[in-house]
Amino acid sequence: MEESRKCDQANGRADPSQPDTPCRFFQVLLIASTFALSWVGMMVVHEFGHVLFAWASGGMVARVVLSPLEFSRTDLQKNPHPLFVAWGGALVGTVLPLGISLLWRAFRWPAWYVLQFFAGFCLVANGVYLGVVSFMANAADPADLMREGAPQWVLVLFGLVAFPSGLFLWNRLGTHFGLSEARGRVDRRVAIAVFFVLVAIVAAEILTYAG
Ligand SMILES: [Zn+2]
Repeated sequence: MEESRKCDQANGRADPSQPDTPCRFFQVLLIASTFALSWVGMMVVHEFGHVLFAWASGGMVARVVLSPLEFSRTDLQKNPHPLFVAWGGALVGTVLPLGISLLWRAFRWPAWYVLQFFAGFCLVANGVYLGVVSFMANAADPADLMREGAPQWVLVLFGLVAFPSGLFLWNRLGTHFGLSEARGRVDRRVAIAVFFVLVAIVAAEILTYAG
């Protein structure tokens, strides 16, 4: 009983003059689940971009490898436009989450800040992937892009735009995750929902794992 009353206070429903008794469990759950969901979700949207661009250009997908424990990839059976398909991952992988997050926020739908964190994560991750990893040998997408004729400066420019845009989206989200003046208060329902979405995606990846 005592614990549930404390957690209700942590949800901000209690009298604000009461002593602050945040329920840190839900804050940790929300932050950890949001990070993990961003990691697996980023790879799902990125591979979706390759698949979409392959279909749009007459290619044929052999398989998509998605796992929470390894880097994702899309293998193609037929790929008449490899440069176009190579761009699909990073382009769709950043623009789609950004668009959904802006829409979500505009309508003030629940947990918009989780979507906005996710969009920022996708921009940061894809930006680092193309901009920084392009300097490494045999780096999947950057290597494919450059082999097919994309100049490296374009990849670096993509990184220079995407990375700070991602950081910008993260700006001021902290209080929604119980940081600073929120003092551990988060929306418990959001924490639980994000956790279950994460579990569902990881379970689907494990069950359909194609190695
Ligand atoms: Zn890729």
